[in-house]
Amino acid sequence: MNFRPEVLVIGGGVIGAAVADALARAGTEVVLIDKGRPGYGCSYGNAGWVAPCFATPLPRPGLLLKAARWMTDPTSPLRIPFRADPALLSWLVRFLWNARQTRFVSGTRALVELSEYSLEAFRELAREHPGGLDMKDQGLLQLGLTSKGVEQTATDLRLMEDFGVQGTVLDEQAVRELEPAITGRVHGGVHFVDEGHLEPLEAVRALLARAERAGARVIPDTEAIRLRYRGTKVCGVETTRGWLEPDEVVLAAGTWSRELARQVGVGVPVFGGKGYSMTLERSASELNTPIMVVERKVAITPHGSRIRFAGTLELVRDDRSISLRRVAAIRRTGTELLGVPDSYEVGEIWRGLRPCTPDGLPLIGRSSEVKNLILATGHQMLGLQTAPATGRLVADLVQDRSPTFNPAPFSPARFE
Ligand SMILES: Cc1cc2nc3c(=O)[nH]c(=O)nc-3n(C[C@H](O)[C@H](O)[C@H](O)COP(=O)(O)OP(=O)(O)OC[C@H]3O[C@@H](n4cnc5c(N)ncnc54)[C@H](O)[C@@H]3O)c2cc1C
Repeated sequence: MNFRPEVLVIGGGVIGAAVADALARAGTEVVLIDKGRPGYGCSYGNAGWVAPCFATPLPRPGLLLKAARWMTDPTSPLRIPFRADPALLSWLVRFLWNARQTRFVSGTRALVELSEYSLEAFRELAREHPGGLDMKDQGLLQLGLTSKGVEQTATDLRLMEDFGVQGTVLDEQAVRELEPAITGRVHGGVHFVDEGHLEPLEAVRALLARAERAGARVIPDTEAIRLRYRGTKVCGVETTRGWLEPDEVVLAAGTWSRELARQVGVGVPVFGGKGYSMTLERSASELNTPIMVVERKVAITPHGSRIRFAGTLELVRDDRSISLRRVAAIRRTGTELLGVPDSYEVGEIWRGLRPCTPDGLPLIGRSSEVKNLILATGHQMLGLQTAPATGRLVADLVQDRSPTFNPAPFSPARFE
């Protein structure tokens, strides 16, 4: 192990992998450590969408009201516990402050930019990688089961069109013609055309493989236990496999970043947005296009011969328990829509904690308090689809190049 790399990346999820890839290819000496197997945190069983049409911050007008209405429903797609936890309450107040239309629109603009860049970057990676990450360019269908749901997605389309994202409103018949695998109740929807999906673990593996080819060192089963600092710099990182003294540290540990940053006095207001997925190993369905069921917030994605249903956002600190009722509700939405029999065999049930910030934007940038600490976390529901752009921004910073994107919306200073 190189004990004095130029850059140490903590965390081998899709964000850490993309950062290591961008840094190594730009010629920086980089070591990445993960406490387990890289890619097996939140980046493992997600829906796999790289979908600019979906690039909105979590806080949006009306969302908290909805959450309050859903509080007593154990199968609701969103659960925000309103309880006397000071950290949670302060997070919620900031979330509420950010759920204004102006913030929502400016946040969307910033996220679309990262997503468009990342979609192209994944297409390039898929072309280079054997098996192509199972990446498909099938667009994405946002479906309303009711007229209200269709209205909601048509409103999103109007906003997205301002940022160059293309889509077409479809009535029920057009939906069924486009995607004959849909046999259940549906009212209509929007077909977004230039969107991709891929197998998320494959994406992490491909990014890490390319990083290694460019000289990065990837070390699994190595946990950062303690970050030590002197003055305004991290002077070393104690790990389960020894002491490292990098020039710079990139913290890309997803929801675990909060505790690690706290060790050096940096606030990372990230809560877990717990979500679930269920993968059916061999699907009877002939689905081609990924689907978002607007009212239930369930994502349905074909992955080769498998099909994955994903959804739910429960705000938690670290609770990784699985609610089988919520999993069953996600499955019901998917199977009803596609007519997949209930008896169909489940390959895997998975949960992941999305790192959620109160303004719905990631933290990408240098800490203003600890000079050689770069944060790359808080990517909420969009970590996969903004990873290559995050890697690019971090590489710009480390290499002192002018930033490829406006870094201001992602600056950690907004929470310091
Ligand atoms: C149900 C669901 C569906 C989703 N669908 C999509 C989607 O379609 N598209 C999309 O863009 N996003 C999606 N997301 C969100 C996406 O999964 C996350 O934004 C993304 O995976 C976050 O990546 P990360 O690298 O920040 O975190 P993680 O993947 O959690 O990686 C963090 C890594 O840090 C490591 N680590 C932690 N602590 C330490 C330590 N002390 N030392 C060393 N290593 C450490 C962990 O082992 C882990 O591997 C979904 C999420 C869920 C839950």
